[in-house]
Amino acid sequence: MSRDVIRQLDQHLSPESLAMIQQAGALAAERRLGIYLVGGVVRDILLGRANSDLDLVVEGDAIKLAESLAGELGGRLVVHRRFGTAKIRTRNLTIDLAMARAETYARPGALPAVRPGSIQDDLARRDFTVNAMALRLDPGSFGKLVDPFDGRKDLESHLIRLLHDRSFIDDATRMLRAVRYEQRFGFHLEASTESLLRLNVAMLRTISGDRTRHELELIMKEDHPEKALNRAGDLGLLVEVHPALKGDGWLQKKFEKARGAASPLPPALYFALLACRFSLPEGDDFVARLKMQGTVSRVILDTARLQERMPSLDKEDLPPSAICELLREYSPTSILAWAIAADSALIQDRLNLYLTRWRHVRTRLDGAALKRLGVPSGPRLGQMLKALQEAKLDGEIESREDETELVQRWLSQGR
Ligand code: ATP
Ligand code: MG
Repeated sequence: MSRDVIRQLDQHLSPESLAMIQQAGALAAERRLGIYLVGGVVRDILLGRANSDLDLVVEGDAIKLAESLAGELGGRLVVHRRFGTAKIRTRNLTIDLAMARAETYARPGALPAVRPGSIQDDLARRDFTVNAMALRLDPGSFGKLVDPFDGRKDLESHLIRLLHDRSFIDDATRMLRAVRYEQRFGFHLEASTESLLRLNVAMLRTISGDRTRHELELIMKEDHPEKALNRAGDLGLLVEVHPALKGDGWLQKKFEKARGAASPLPPALYFALLACRFSLPEGDDFVARLKMQGTVSRVILDTARLQERMPSLDKEDLPPSAICELLREYSPTSILAWAIAADSALIQDRLNLYLTRWRHVRTRLDGAALKRLGVPSGPRLGQMLKALQEAKLDGEIESREDETELVQRWLSQGR
């Protein structure tokens, strides 16, 4: 078996990665420590998919080993003593090393208690059989698969399967992870895993806002997040994350359209599309419950708020200046979300024009130029600049001369 895995290692890891894991294997063997490549990268090597995250598990002091390895590779080392983990960054690679550990859960949703363990212990604390495989890196058995839960068989049968029946209770984020992998790979939840998930959906409430948000963010980073969201909706998971969330055909269409509309996608755009169907209180509640912060939180709230503007934006004979006034306070991503989500073609066009053109329009004359023309400082200056901007947006003036003429006319009229 190890021979064909080695061939896949050759094919799916860069020469640099391969050399690095061989070096790590040799170094650990000198110290009589077991060392393994684990988790997602092993799964992806067996699937023939690219994955550049190298996760290594060491039976013993991973930090000491990382220090030696970083010395040999000439990489930068970051150590987390509390977790027994280390990260090495070279010019082209990132390698995570962790001590093999065993876990016990004191209560559902809490972080587990950990102690040093064997590779078997370390694999036994993982989420799904396909993620619970390791490859030996010691030179004597390089590339030998360690697969205590028959993950390889499940990979071939396209199944996402838990390691034990309490798994979703110990850590309910695994329910969101399950649908993410299932939909990414086009697999199926194994039958008893699906039953356990349906039985335990309410356990998602034991998970902190931060951890739930993190899983949602991981879903949004998928190539087709709507697939996992739809599946999570069908399984009753989404309403547990937040009652206002819906995964359905609408979302499917809008997410597809979003990918056609912008590249690269603004990071908060998918979240904004979810928020198009939030009321204002739901938006507030979503942001608070999932501890959304910074730009994403602002975009979500803006998007929920922007719904109120839709009837005004759908009125006929609205000049560009009036549209700009309506949209002035909203973040561009929330406006883009509505350009994708709005039913009305008129609104879509207006929002797109706003984003691509109108919001960039600037008059050639500024405050200083107006003063030189004889406009006194004070509120009148501001009003005149604004009026000039509106005239420019609405196509009443174009050149610098037009602007100067208009200002002079206003002055002579005593405006
Ligand atoms: P991806 O391709 O999405 O990065 P991955 O398998 O590498 O997938 P990570 O989130 O990077 O996933 O986690 C690395 C490994 O850690 C997983 O393969 C899995 O074995 C384990 N793991 C991560 N989260 C959990 C969890 N909540 N419960 C149990 N094991 C987990
Ligand atoms: Mg990973």
